[in-house]
Amino acid sequence: MSRIWNFSAGPAVLPAEVLEQVKDELLDWHGAGCGVMEMSHRGKEFTAIIEAAEADLRELMGIPGNYKVLFLQGGATQQFAQIPLNLLSIGASADYLVTGSWSKKAVKEAQRVMAGTASVRVAGTTEASGFTRFLDAAEIAIDPDAAYVHVCTNETIHGVEVDCSRLPQTTVPIVADMSSHILSRPVDVSKYALIYAGAQKNIGPSGVTIVIVREDLLGRAPATIPTVMDYAVMAENGSMLNTPPTFAIYVSGLVFKWLKRLGGLAEVEKINAHKAELLYVCIDGSEGFYRNPVRVADRSRMNVPFTLANPELDAAFLAESKAAGLASLKGHKSVGGMRASIYNAMPTDGVRALVEFMQDFRKRNA
Ligand code: PMP
Repeated sequence: MSRIWNFSAGPAVLPAEVLEQVKDELLDWHGAGCGVMEMSHRGKEFTAIIEAAEADLRELMGIPGNYKVLFLQGGATQQFAQIPLNLLSIGASADYLVTGSWSKKAVKEAQRVMAGTASVRVAGTTEASGFTRFLDAAEIAIDPDAAYVHVCTNETIHGVEVDCSRLPQTTVPIVADMSSHILSRPVDVSKYALIYAGAQKNIGPSGVTIVIVREDLLGRAPATIPTVMDYAVMAENGSMLNTPPTFAIYVSGLVFKWLKRLGGLAEVEKINAHKAELLYVCIDGSEGFYRNPVRVADRSRMNVPFTLANPELDAAFLAESKAAGLASLKGHKSVGGMRASIYNAMPTDGVRALVEFMQDFRKRNA
C-alpha cells in the first residue's frame, strides 16, 4: 500500500502511527472484546478514553484549572452560532475582527442568530486589502464594553495567521477560532476567554469540536437556548448530556499521545516552522513563477496558498503533482490557485517532495 502526500485543508492527513494503532484496536480495544465505535459512552472503557484525552490536551496546551474542556458536535460552524447564543445577553454587543473567509462567516452567523436581540459589530477588517494580512493595531477599534471580541487566529483559506502575542491588548474577553492551527505551536490559553476548533485539521477525524472555555463565562445563556448548545449544561455533564462523537474523541486522544511523544508543542512548533520555511523559500525564490500574496509576518505555517504567474499552467500543475503522489493541492474556489495545507501530521519529507516537484515543474515550464 502506498500513501499519498495529502495536502488537504481538512479533513486532513492523520499521523500514520495513529492510524496503525486504530487499525490494531478496531475490532478489540484493549481486550474489551469490541471496538471503540461499538461501546457505550457511559461504560468504564470509554470514560477512561475521554478522561485521558482531556488530561493529555490539558497537559499539551497548559490549560489552566479554571477552564472547561468540552467535546462537542456541529463543527466550528455551529460555534459561530453557539458562541453568541451563550455569551451575548439581550442588549449586549460583541466585536469581531474580520481577516478572512472564516471570520467573515463567523460574524455573519452571529448577526443572524442575534438579530433584534444583541448587536454584533465588525471592529476591524482587512477585506479591502483582499485578506492578505492581519490587522494592524491602529485598524482595530474594540468597544471596551463589548461582551467579547472574536478573532480567527489562522484563516485556512487565505493563509493568514496571527500569534497571540500580537493580538490587541484589551480587557475584553477574547474568543478565538483556532480550527486550523490549534496544537501547531504553544499558546497561552490564559489570554483567551474561549478557544474553539473543529478536529479535522490538526486534532483528529471530523465529528468532534473542541471548546476550551473559562468557567466564569458559563451560565450566561438565556433559558431558551437549546439544551445541547448550553456550554454550562455540557460542562456539568462532562460533554455527555447526550451521545458524544466517541470514535472521533478516541482518535483525537491518540493524536494527543502522539504529540506528547514528539516532545509537546514547543517541539512540534520547531518542526512546523521548518516545514513552512522550506515551502515559502521555494515560493519566494521562484522569481515570480510562484507567488504567495500574504504579508510575510502574517503568513500561515499551516495553510500556504500560492498562485502560478501563468494560470494556464494550473491544470498541468495539478495533474502532474497528483501523478507524483502529491494530492489535494487545488486552492479554495474563492481564491483560486493552489493551497498546500501542512498540518502537524504532514511529515517534513512530504513538504520536501512538494518543493522538489515545484522546482522541477518550474524548470520545465519557466
Ligand atoms: N473555521 C475555520 C478557521 C475553518 O478552517 C473551518 C473549516 N475549514 C471552519 C471554521 C468551519 O469548520 P466546520 O466545517 O468544522 O464547521
